[in-house]
Amino acid sequence: MDLLMNQQNVVVMGVANKWSIAWGIAKKFSEEGARVLFTYYGEKSLRSIEKLVEEEQLKNCDYFSCDVSSDEDIESTFGQIKEKYQLIHGVVHSIGHANKDELRGNYYDTSREGYLMAQNISAYSFVAVAKHAQAMMPEGGCLTTLSYLGGERVVKNYNVMGVAKAALESSVQYLAHDLGERQIRVNAISAGPVKTLAAKGVSGFNDLANAFVEKSPMKRMVTVEEIANTALFLGSRLGTGVTGEVIHVDCGYFILGY
Ligand code: NAD
Repeated sequence: MDLLMNQQNVVVMGVANKWSIAWGIAKKFSEEGARVLFTYYGEKSLRSIEKLVEEEQLKNCDYFSCDVSSDEDIESTFGQIKEKYQLIHGVVHSIGHANKDELRGNYYDTSREGYLMAQNISAYSFVAVAKHAQAMMPEGGCLTTLSYLGGERVVKNYNVMGVAKAALESSVQYLAHDLGERQIRVNAISAGPVKTLAAKGVSGFNDLANAFVEKSPMKRMVTVEEIANTALFLGSRLGTGVTGEVIHVDCGYFILGY
């Protein structure tokens, strides 16, 4: 069978546990023949990923530590990947972080430190990753990140993270412009709410999820597999004409004006 990602090296950043969106994406790429190069943040994540890989019998995986708040770390991680595999075809950046205290209440209470941290980890890291990844993509490739509607409109309590997602989505466009000529595509998936560790940090997440089911045109939550299918479309030969795009995978919630 002609698998979509045969002989392709794909870096997947942001698996913390089995609920992580990045884990669903990694499984999907692996099923389609990719070698998945996981980056992990902390030993706990590494243990989680190794256990999941074993349980689900994913083949051809490798693991690299990476704290995306450090330029040296990003450089060293991609340096190690280059030494071992020479080139890559895709990166999935599924990373975000903000102070829990700032994912509630008024946005104007955001601290300078909290603002910079959310931007640093959730938006700038994609730019820094793109810099190192593009140098390993002589055959072209695809960089995909994860965003959320709170970057386009006000979503209660999303606050500083919404502003970081706005910067992330704008970065997608600037990076797509920089890299298009070399057939390196850059896109974001704006996913509907999924119950993950990161989502739990947003105050009132359960209410948001319930309202989502009630209001979304499809009257249900989106599944991680649906998000992963879109990542596969973007990262494979099926998506080669698409760059600079933010694709909503949210059961149509984004069209609502009420
Ligand atoms: P998650 O908690 O499983 O993943 C977040 C990941 O970010 C974790 O693996 C964590 O280790 C990593 N991370 C945090 N700080 C880091 C650092 N300094 N260096 C390296 N990694 C770091 O949650 P998730 O929901 O799967 O989140 C993945 C992405 O999807 C995030 O960008 C999130 O904003 C986005 N997203 C989530 C939802 C949702 O409802 N869950 C909806 C839309 C978009």
